[in-house]
Amino acid sequence: MKTGLSNFPCVSTKPEDILVYGYDSSMLEKQPIAVARPTDVGELVELVRAAYAKNIALIPRGAGTGTVGGSVPVEQSSVVISFERMNRILEIDKENMVAVVEPGVINGVFQRTLKDQGLFYPPDPASLNFSTLGGNVATGAGGPRAVKYGVTRDYVLGLEIVLPDGTVTNTGVRTAKGVVGYDLTRLIVGSEGTLAFVTKITLKILPEPETVVTLVTTFDSISNSAQTVSKIMASGIVPRTLEFMDKNSLKVVESYKHSGLPTSGAMLLIELDGPTFVVNREIENISAICKSFAGEVQIARSEAAAEKLWEARRSISPALYRISTTKINQDIVVPRSSVPEMLLRLDEIAEKTGLFIVNFGHAGDGNIHVNIMTDKSDPEKYNHATAAVDDIFRATLELNGTISGEHGVGLKKKPYIEMELDEVVISLMKHIKRVFDPAGIMNPGKIFP
Ligand SMILES: Cc1cc2nc3c(=O)[nH]c(=O)nc-3n(C[C@H](O)[C@H](O)[C@H](O)COP(=O)(O)OP(=O)(O)OC[C@H]3O[C@@H](n4cnc5c(N)ncnc54)[C@H](O)[C@@H]3O)c2cc1C
Repeated sequence: MKTGLSNFPCVSTKPEDILVYGYDSSMLEKQPIAVARPTDVGELVELVRAAYAKNIALIPRGAGTGTVGGSVPVEQSSVVISFERMNRILEIDKENMVAVVEPGVINGVFQRTLKDQGLFYPPDPASLNFSTLGGNVATGAGGPRAVKYGVTRDYVLGLEIVLPDGTVTNTGVRTAKGVVGYDLTRLIVGSEGTLAFVTKITLKILPEPETVVTLVTTFDSISNSAQTVSKIMASGIVPRTLEFMDKNSLKVVESYKHSGLPTSGAMLLIELDGPTFVVNREIENISAICKSFAGEVQIARSEAAAEKLWEARRSISPALYRISTTKINQDIVVPRSSVPEMLLRLDEIAEKTGLFIVNFGHAGDGNIHVNIMTDKSDPEKYNHATAAVDDIFRATLELNGTISGEHGVGLKKKPYIEMELDEVVISLMKHIKRVFDPAGIMNPGKIFP
C-alpha cells in the first residue's frame, strides 16, 4: 500500500471498500487509495498525524448522501475517512436541553431517540434516514422544517474538531449564550470538510410540540399555489413546513409510488405544530387562504397517513432517476416573496431550452430544488442542459437569491461561486482555509474554482 498507513487496524485497501467509498449522491466518482473507519477520536488523531507527516490528502465522509461531490476524492492517493463507526449518542441532557453526539449518528436515529423521551431536534433533511449528523454539520443541512425552526447551523452550540495536523480542540459552548472570541463553530458548520474533522457535536434540543398536523392542498396551477404560500406567510402563521411540488414532480412520484397524488397543477404539503388549540385555529385560517386560491384541502388524520405523504415527498429524488439517467440538481433560494417570479422564470427557461425541468422544494423559505433531467452519456444533450444552469443562477441572483441553500459547493458548484461571491470574499475564504490547513491536505480541490 502506497500510503504507509496499513498498520492502522481501521484502514482498508480492499477493492470492494475502495469502490464504494469513491462516490456520493452527486454521481461523481473517484476511488481513494484507502478507506479508514476510526472508532474513536484517539484512533483518528493517530491516523491524521501519520497522514500529515506524509502529506496525504484526507477526505471526511459521513454517509455519502451529499449531492455536490463533497466526499469524493479529487487527488490521486487520497484516503477517505468515514465516520460511520463513530456513531454514539453520548449524552441527552434534559435539564439543559442539549445533546452530545458523535458525527456518525444518523439524523433519523437521533430524531427517534429524542422523540421517545418527548424531545425534538428540528433539522430534517429529506435524507434524514441515511445522512449523518457530522455530514449535516459539515454541509449546514436544512430541511422542510427550516421555515419555522431554522437549519443545522441554528442548533450547533459547540464542536470537538481535529485539525489536519492531528490537533484536537473544542469550539463554542454548551450554554444558551456565548460570545468569547470569534464564532469558529459557525465557521466550521457548512465548511464541507475543508477545514477540520468534526468529531463531537453539542446540539441544542427542544421539547416535542404538543400537536403536529399535516395538510395537503392541491391547486390547478403553480401560480395559485405560489400565491397561497405568500399569503400564508404574510398572515402571521408560521407553519413548521411548507413544501411544494410542481406538476412534473407530482407525475414522477405518482408513477413511482402510487400514493394517490394528483398529476397536474401543484401541491403544497403543510405541517403545523404547537398547542392543540393554536393548531386548530391555524388549520381553519390556512384552509380559508388555500380555498381563496381554489385550493382543495385535506387533513392527514393519522400519523401513518401523514407519513405516507412525506414518503411521497422524500421519494422525488429517487423517482427522478426512473425517467432519466442524469439529473442536474440545483437548490437555489430566493426571497420568499420572489418565489412566484422565480417559478415563472424557470418555466420560461424550460420553454426556451426544451428541457424537462422538475421543481419542488421548501417554498416557505424560498428554497427551490430545480432538477434538469438529461443524459450524461450524450454530450450534446448534457452540454445543452448544463448551459441552462447559468440562466437559472443568473435569474436567482437577479432576484437577490443564492445559488445554494443547503447542498453546498463541493465539486459540482465550484465553477459558479464567482457569480455570487466577489474577489475579496473569495480571497478571505482562501486565507481562512490556509490558516486551518497550511499543508492543503484537508479535502483538497473543493469549493474554490
Ligand atoms: C434523497 C436525498 C435528499 C436530500 N435532501 C436534503 C435536504 O432536504 N436538505 C439538505 O440540506 N440536504 C439534503 N440532501 C443532501 C445530503 O443528504 C446532505 O448534504 C447531508 O447533510 C450529507 O450528509 P452525509 O452524512 O451523507 O455526508 P457526506 O455526503 O458523506 O459528506 C458531505 C460533506 O460533509 C463532509 N463531512 C462529512 N462528515 C464530516 C465530518 N465528520 N467532519 C468534517 N466533514 C465532514 C464531507 O467531506 C463532505 O464535504 C439530500 C440528499 C439526498 C440523496
